[in-house]
Parts: sequence; C-alpha cells; structure tokens
Amino acid sequence: MFRLFDAPEREPSQFVGFAGNRIDRQAESRDGNSIGAALAHPAARLLILRDGRAHLKLADGGFDPYFDLAEAETLRARVDQVVLLGFSDSGPVLAAPGGLPAEQLPESIKAIDYRSIYTQGLVDPSALGALAQAASLLAWHATHRFCGRCGHNTESSDGGYKRVCLNCNAGHFPRTDPVAIMLTVTQEKCLMGRGRHFAPGMYSALAGFIEPGETIEAAVRRETFEEAGIRLGRVVYHASQPWPFPHTLMIGCFGEALNEDIHPDTWELEDCRWFSRAEVLDMLAGSHAGGLCVPPSGAIAHHLIRAWAES
Ligand SMILES: [Zn+2]
Repeated sequence: MFRLFDAPEREPSQFVGFAGNRIDRQAESRDGNSIGAALAHPAARLLILRDGRAHLKLADGGFDPYFDLAEAETLRARVDQVVLLGFSDSGPVLAAPGGLPAEQLPESIKAIDYRSIYTQGLVDPSALGALAQAASLLAWHATHRFCGRCGHNTESSDGGYKRVCLNCNAGHFPRTDPVAIMLTVTQEKCLMGRGRHFAPGMYSALAGFIEPGETIEAAVRRETFEEAGIRLGRVVYHASQPWPFPHTLMIGCFGEALNEDIHPDTWELEDCRWFSRAEVLDMLAGSHAGGLCVPPSGAIAHHLIRAWAES
C-alpha cells in the first residue's frame, strides 16, 4: 500500500536526540580546497573532540561547544586533522580532534562525554546534531589511517568525507553502521527486554546490527527471533536516529508478534517479557508501582514505546 500522503509532515525522526542537525553540508561542492577556505573564513567555528568527550566552554551559565580558530589553536586542537561539517547561517562549522587531555584543559573548558551532553541537555538540539556528525566522522578518520586494500598510509580529502591511499589511490568513505531497533507488539501488549548494562529498572526495545545482504525487515525478524523466540508478521518502519557511538544509524520499527511464548537469549538479556499498555503508560509517566522505567525521551526506543502506548 502506498502511504506517503498519509504520513505526518513532521516525521517521527525529528523528535529524537542527535537529530537536530541544521548544518547545510553542501556535499556536492566538497573538494581539495574546502577546508582551507572554511578555516580562512573569519566566522569559522570548530567543535573539539577527544576520547569520546567534547570540549565545552562555560558561557552565560550554560555550555558553548564552538570555538574560533584562535581558541582552537590555543587549546592545541589538531587543526591539521580538521573536518568540514558544513555551513550554518553564521559561517562554516568544522571539527578537530583535541590535543590536550581533560586534566590539562583550562578551568573554563570542560571535557564532557557525549552521553552526558545528550542525556543532560547541555547543548541545544542543533549543536547536539552537529556533535553527532563530528564524533562519527572523526572516529572514522582515527581508525582508517591505513588503506584496507594495500596497507599504506591514507590521507583525508574532500573536506574529510573521503580518505585516499597514497600508494594505490583507492578511495575510502566514511561508514555508517545500521542497527535495527524494534518494538514487538500485539494489540494490547509490547515486548521489552533488559540488557545486562541497563540502568536499574529500565526496559527497552530489542536491537541488533543489520548484517550484510539483509533488508531492514529481515534483520528485525531475525533479531527478534534470536533474542526472544518471537516470530514476526508485519514489520513497519517508524523513525531513525544518528547514534555517534561511534557511527551507528538506529532504524526504529514495529513488528507484529505471531506467538507470545518467549524464549529469551539469556546471554544477551537479563530479562525479557510482555508489558500491558497500562503498565507501559505508567513507566512513561514515571509512576510505575515497581519502579520500572523506559529510556529517556532523547532515545529512539522511547519514541517507539510512546507511539505504541499512546496509539
Ligand atoms: Zn592502498
């Protein structure tokens, strides 16, 4: 069935954390001069990232993640490894690896991990989106210094969206790893599990990497069967979320359960069970009698769970 014209104008992906990126990437105009021209722009701003943390400047009672070139150089950011994220209304936005460990930063600069920046809302949604783009791209550069074909050195090109081998000239491109995250439902119940590393009392949608040669729907069905022993009928896409740990794209779906007897993968899951709609609404409201909860509102799992519970 063709459903485009029934879809909401603000699609669900716009409401998840890391989705607020407003940078105009201008991908079609990236070339060997992009970074030099961007750095020469007087309004150029840089994000500085190191060891899974962003440098944040204390400003007006809040945090500012952007630095001008002089500030970045003072903080010994690796401007030689800078990437161009694109252009905001006020000028180019770039990102560079930090050169100083957290304990050597001046008092006015904090190095804060991405997860805390996201869960505590320390920067605005557009900056959080830019941070996801920067973190994923810089993580890729850090692990692709050598050619996967011949083993020689590669160098960054096209504003940081390509690495080229200096020996065999092979081009290498940034990776995005797709993960399916799915809420399995019946008319009145949904299936959620607890990973071993979850915060106390938290249950969430099941998830797993999409494998080569697999459709999104096939991955949703395989993962749900492997993790919970539930076979799925219909599968529909709901929303997606950039997830910079380090370069994942979460693809959120709903799956229709064909059986209700759970056979959990106890190696991956500490628990997995059905929840009634009323119980899930209590978990979303923070009023569950047993203290159970769902992931916070920036997480795509939260939006899958809420969309089903309120449907
Ligand atoms: Zn090579």
